[in-house]
Amino acid sequence: MPALATAMLLPRLHVAAAAAFHRALATTTCAAVAQSLPEQVKIVEVGPRDGLQNEKVIVPADVKIHLINLLSEAGLSVVEATSFVSPKWVPQMADQKEVIQGIRKYPNVRYPVLTPNLKGFESAIKAGAKEVAIFGAASEMFSKRNINCSIDESLQRFEEVMKAAKDSSIPVRGYVSCVLGCPYEGNVSPTKVAEVAKKMYSMGCYEISLGDTIGIGTPGSMREMLTAVIKEIPVSALAVHCHDTYGQALVNVFTALEMGISTVDSSIAGLGGCPYAQGASGNVATEDVVYMLNGLGIHTGVDLQKLLDAGGYICRVLNRKTSSKVAQASCKL
Ligand SMILES: [Zn+2]
Repeated sequence: MPALATAMLLPRLHVAAAAAFHRALATTTCAAVAQSLPEQVKIVEVGPRDGLQNEKVIVPADVKIHLINLLSEAGLSVVEATSFVSPKWVPQMADQKEVIQGIRKYPNVRYPVLTPNLKGFESAIKAGAKEVAIFGAASEMFSKRNINCSIDESLQRFEEVMKAAKDSSIPVRGYVSCVLGCPYEGNVSPTKVAEVAKKMYSMGCYEISLGDTIGIGTPGSMREMLTAVIKEIPVSALAVHCHDTYGQALVNVFTALEMGISTVDSSIAGLGGCPYAQGASGNVATEDVVYMLNGLGIHTGVDLQKLLDAGGYICRVLNRKTSSKVAQASCKL
């Protein structure tokens, strides 16, 4: 009988050993993940600008103002308020001055505005903006179609804005779009992204937001792109801006966190899209990002319930369904 006893014992031993192994592995993996993830994440809320800019119906200024106030109350520390572009190009942002002047300015909240050129910058400062953002692309064709000039020309145009901003001590955030793919060119090389991002950082942008404008990236391409950019720019000066077109936004954000990024752009209710990128769906929803970060024990300072209320408000006004999964799940039917 000893042979049988051994045979019966063996699988049990294997099971026990396997369980112990998995326990050890789980502990190691959790510890490794916990170690590599940031303790705190800054969320840059882009819904009132990037999100609403792509809504076809013109949203009244008082709605935008109320939305921004709700977002401030929810504990977000950065809310991109509007864009100082020509109303001819973006009619939705024609009320830029009214919005920036009408919002309640919370002491710990910053309200950057997009300024594509010197004229926009000057109007923004005159209207009381204290922080601006400039918008470049890693794809030549996207740059031509979106801002009507080559990447180099766009960088030259930014020089003027950067100089004026420096003279008035205004912080400038830089966006690089199409970092994981372009609707016209297809693949965008990580080297090109790193090159453009480095130029904008060297020009004086305090933070570079890397945008997957058409939401085509995966954790694989995100990792590859960030590896190239991190070689050129300190990770603390980088942000990711993910769209959810292919359902990859949250996992792409998580990948960026694992690589040390601690600033994430997102949009309330997942508002947004891109008029220049066919089929591109909204930004990753702020509610979903906060839910994930809460689950990871990462501090954001944001109150999820208040965020859900803000998302509910704008969706009711726009008469549109929220793109946030968390909001959908939390909805009491
Ligand atoms: Zn976006």
